[in-house]
Amino acid sequence: MSERDVGGWFRTAVDGAVVLPNTAAWGPGTGGFGRTSHEADLIAAADMFRGRPTMVLTGAGMSTASGLPDYRGRDAVPRSPMMYQEFVGSDLSRRRYWARSTVGWHSFATARPNAAHHLLAELGRITPLTGVVTQNVDGLHQAAGSHPVIDLHGTLDRVICLECGHLLDRYRLQEQFLELNPRFADHLDQLAADAVQAPDGDAEVDRTHDFSYHGCSVCGGMLKPDVVFFGENAHGEVVAEANRLLDHSDVLLVLGSSLTVMSGLRFARRAAREGKEVIIANDGATRGDDVAPLRIHGRLEPILRTWVRHLGRNH
Ligand SMILES: [Zn+2]
Repeated sequence: MSERDVGGWFRTAVDGAVVLPNTAAWGPGTGGFGRTSHEADLIAAADMFRGRPTMVLTGAGMSTASGLPDYRGRDAVPRSPMMYQEFVGSDLSRRRYWARSTVGWHSFATARPNAAHHLLAELGRITPLTGVVTQNVDGLHQAAGSHPVIDLHGTLDRVICLECGHLLDRYRLQEQFLELNPRFADHLDQLAADAVQAPDGDAEVDRTHDFSYHGCSVCGGMLKPDVVFFGENAHGEVVAEANRLLDHSDVLLVLGSSLTVMSGLRFARRAAREGKEVIIANDGATRGDDVAPLRIHGRLEPILRTWVRHLGRNH
């Protein structure tokens, strides 16, 4: 299954306390999709964080309207993501990963912020948000103008050498991979279309055993996307930075995350433990529902639009 996960090559990031789709005690089967909260609840939520320092934690639900799929959302197909150990332990796994990444890079790299990203940036101008901590690896909050943004799981536009720490631009790597793999370069559009149309079929991209990739130009070491894979921990200094934002916040606002993985859930639990307000807005049940007295259901764009309108009017 995992080697056919063409469309999902970038959904790689979670915490070391790993929860895999097929083994989770809590999983997307919990459902709860399609509910929509009443406007009165949305207003109550806005009045709760109005004027108070608020940390925002976002997940994949934020980027679905930008065309980046959410593997735990309502239309999610359970997938097995690439594990860290699998990536570093197997040449064949790296060939598969880089082949799928090369095919998928263009559509990923050209994704643009959607209305929800822009509305959140706008919200930050009318009420004090201490920062946006995101589990996404797409850089779309920065593109929309939110500040500061902490990329809890890194970003895919950077590649790191596991030996010497040398950092590489993913766009440059794309050029190098296409030069190394003319068969892919010549059929990139077709391969991408196949991947989208037949994620579980025999797309040609799955014949990746002859895909060529190279090591670090400085030391020859192994290159890896600078994101947190399944089976890896979020980097300590990044988590500490996010915790400092939470220190200075009275409210934690979770947007578009099912909080399935511990890297996000721990902020909700910590906030609740310390008596901070926890508000969760998500389409579908979340693993943090028990610590959030105020649960907002529905799509993020209309929710954020209501908040911006309500708070902007009284600004
Ligand atoms: Zn190196």
